[in-house]
Amino acid sequence: MKTINDYNFKDKRALIRVDFNVPLTKDFEVADRSRIEGAKPSIIKVLEDGGSAVLMSHLGRPEGKEEKYSLNHIVNAVSDVLGVKVKFVEDCVGKDAEAAASEIHPGEILLLENLRYYSEEKKGDDAFAEKLSKLGDIYVNDAFGTAHRAHASTTVVAKYFEDKAMGLLLQKEIESLDKVLNSTEKPVTAVLGGAKVSSKITVIENILPKVDHLIIGGGMAFTFIKAQGGKIGESLVEDDLQNLALDILKKAEAQNVKVHLPVDSVVTQQFDNEAETKIEPINAISDGWMGLDAGPQSRENFAKVIGGSKIILWNGPLGVFEMDTFSKGTVALGEEITKATEQGAFSLVGGGDSVSAAKQFGFDSKVSYVSTGGGAMLEMLEGKSLPGIDALK
Ligand code: AMP
Repeated sequence: MKTINDYNFKDKRALIRVDFNVPLTKDFEVADRSRIEGAKPSIIKVLEDGGSAVLMSHLGRPEGKEEKYSLNHIVNAVSDVLGVKVKFVEDCVGKDAEAAASEIHPGEILLLENLRYYSEEKKGDDAFAEKLSKLGDIYVNDAFGTAHRAHASTTVVAKYFEDKAMGLLLQKEIESLDKVLNSTEKPVTAVLGGAKVSSKITVIENILPKVDHLIIGGGMAFTFIKAQGGKIGESLVEDDLQNLALDILKKAEAQNVKVHLPVDSVVTQQFDNEAETKIEPINAISDGWMGLDAGPQSRENFAKVIGGSKIILWNGPLGVFEMDTFSKGTVALGEEITKATEQGAFSLVGGGDSVSAAKQFGFDSKVSYVSTGGGAMLEMLEGKSLPGIDALK
């Protein structure tokens, strides 16, 4: 598979699939520019080579051509981040788009209108993909966040190009995960939290052979505790998965993976930030009470494991971090991962909610890498290959 660095873009037009699906304020200002910043290195590389860039992305979930999802709203923010005045064309395929793409000169950038204004995009329509392919000489996919979707611009379009490559962001995502899952350095620790075992089963099964320690926290821990005969009160549980939980523990033991479950929990009677709380052993929670965060002894145990790790993967919060009262376990974990990173460990945060937790508590700048694609990272952790990446092979 080629990367963007395998090409020289002098006098070439790069058609780059970026992920500019950014949040907008009520006044259509870009509320968070990190996705635009994420795409910057690839775009700048093309311009510095002496080429031009045609950028395509989706924004939101428009039904037809809804103005509020126009990429026109983000042109100024993109220009600002890239330091180049970006041109915009009010279509992503057809006569106007082709004319605009043929008129850009080396050093210039053209942003196309929202790909999802056409239902063909999500359907992975061939004819639509072929129309897109007319807009550039070399195809670059740098949209990790949608690489798990077989859409026209992320996957199908690639077959119309002789020259195609992954962008620097996509490359970084793949390399970070590779560093974790195929590490020669040990010990490797994975922290899995979040609400449900069911959404993480495939991840657990895929990573077991690759890790030395597995910390299981958050709501999903209770299914394991109950399966082992613990009393969990009203805590979140998936009763039908108890056997599977025991199975996972057996498999882990057979593969010499040390599993660390919480030993205590911050419990409450109400799912409410202001509710009364107490600490109880995780396997002896009072009737009518539920565990919503890792207790102090659990935090200490997890800290020891993290402190001794060389490679750390973090997916899923250790408690209901959205409420201050139940965020302490997640915050403590983030602090320990930060410390370990400062001491030379490699840490990757990715897949779903842990990224928002990391951002909320400011750990995103302190860990080695924060994945930009929740769903895509989760699928890679599950061992699936992503259509957007396969199409570049
Ligand atoms: P996920 O998307 O599977 O990573 O789950 C994230 C969600 O799990 C967050 O919204 C947390 O509030 C929630 N969560 C974490 N721990 C618990 C718990 N002990 N009980 C209920 N929900 C939890």
